Amino acid sequence: MPHCIALFSGGLDSCLSVITLLRQGIRITALYFNTSFGCGLSNREDYLKRVSERFGFDLKVIDVSEEFLGILKNPAYGYGKNMNPCVDCKIMMLKNARDYMNQVGADFIATGEVLGQRPMSQQRHIFNLMEKKVGIKDYILRPLSALLLPPTHPERVGMVDREKLHGISGRKRIQQFHLAKEYGLDDYPNPSGGCLLTDPNFSLRLKELLLYKKDVNIRDLRLLKIGRHFRLNDGTKIIVGRNQDDNAHIMDLHTTADILIMPYDVEGPTVLIPKADISDDLIMTGASFCMFYSDGKDRDTIRVIVKYGNEERFVDANQSYSLDIQKYMIKR
Ligand code: SF4
Repeated sequence: MPHCIALFSGGLDSCLSVITLLRQGIRITALYFNTSFGCGLSNREDYLKRVSERFGFDLKVIDVSEEFLGILKNPAYGYGKNMNPCVDCKIMMLKNARDYMNQVGADFIATGEVLGQRPMSQQRHIFNLMEKKVGIKDYILRPLSALLLPPTHPERVGMVDREKLHGISGRKRIQQFHLAKEYGLDDYPNPSGGCLLTDPNFSLRLKELLLYKKDVNIRDLRLLKIGRHFRLNDGTKIIVGRNQDDNAHIMDLHTTADILIMPYDVEGPTVLIPKADISDDLIMTGASFCMFYSDGKDRDTIRVIVKYGNEERFVDANQSYSLDIQKYMIKR
């Protein structure tokens, strides 16, 4: 039985691509690449497992966060409409898939790409470029658009029946919706695949961070996904939780090098000042941000707990430090 390594985001196109090949009796190992920018990976992992069990293929999650971070800072082929370096990202995934294919002795790679669907990364010349960069030109099959592309090695040698592949192109997804119905695929996430880098607001935060911080790390990226973000000066940001989930994430991600501020006598947000040089002024500013978004906003003062290093103390916050709070917000 031919063995295919499939790039698998869990979005509609990659699901259809995999099912198209499964229906030809091809064994599939689907690779999900965790770049750190998928929406709600834990939910997505549950979904991916459900699909793989239902349709009968193997699933492997590969963490490429660190490798992707390097690409994100300086993509050779630039960004798309937002901060999405799609061409570099696809090349990275294909290289990983190629290595995995060689490691397990699989026969070819499949992707869910559709010709002409995305202006940056899903064009004929870009497919050629990626194949050249990855060095396995004839071994990357795109089942959804295969009839519009030259036959690949697995089609030519009869591993894959070309006549049962598709000739889909363009941005409209009507044909994919019909195919999903035909395949009994009724439970799929947003077709865009949920990459945060295509989100304009998230991209703005990321761009701002890359501008001010040269040594961005994975924790910085995780923090970008939560809370309201404020820039006080070149080296200082304040992050304010918007809800209990944000507050819990801030607690999880904080280190002893950060200033952490929590309301003590009212309901309100957890506030993080990442890797800050502590000063009374900064603490009072962070405390007043906490107050501004708390239930005690209209009081004269609220009491907050401030943690820094191994120290912990109470501070009485007031609004005098946050009069211009909106001015500091990182937003479009
Ligand atoms: S949308 Fe995101 S995950 Fe998909 S190719 Fe582009 S950068 Fe990579």
